[in-house]
Amino acid sequence: MMRTTRRRTALMDLLTSSDRFQSAQELHTALARHGEPLALSTVYRALQHFVDSGDVHVFHAANGETLYRRCTRPDHHGHLICRLCGKTEELKAATVDIWSADLGRTLGFDEISPVTEIVGTCQDCAV
Ligand SMILES: [Zn+2]
Ligand SMILES: [Zn+2]
Repeated sequence: MMRTTRRRTALMDLLTSSDRFQSAQELHTALARHGEPLALSTVYRALQHFVDSGDVHVFHAANGETLYRRCTRPDHHGHLICRLCGKTEELKAATVDIWSADLGRTLGFDEISPVTEIVGTCQDCAV
């Protein structure tokens, strides 16, 4: 149990130290580099645990990959994500919610689920 906790802590530290959305495979590789080798299945299980507890957010990329990020905003918010490197800006929920609600009203749609993921290419990746 101790070992599980310590490894989960190493994984959480890694997530906390990055502002990017990352895949389980990337995190698995980075942990090994930091001398904390974790089986890929363990990384997936730990990530699922963090997602269930609301500590980590998930983004389903267009290529089918599932990416994970530890966000700094504890409240509901959206994400602006670079499709190439996973770099992410957190969007104020109010901005996104108001815009979504306005759009729904204008076009006659009810029960709008606000857009929470907007994908683009960041300055670093736009060469
Ligand atoms: Zn988030
Ligand atoms: Zn980028």
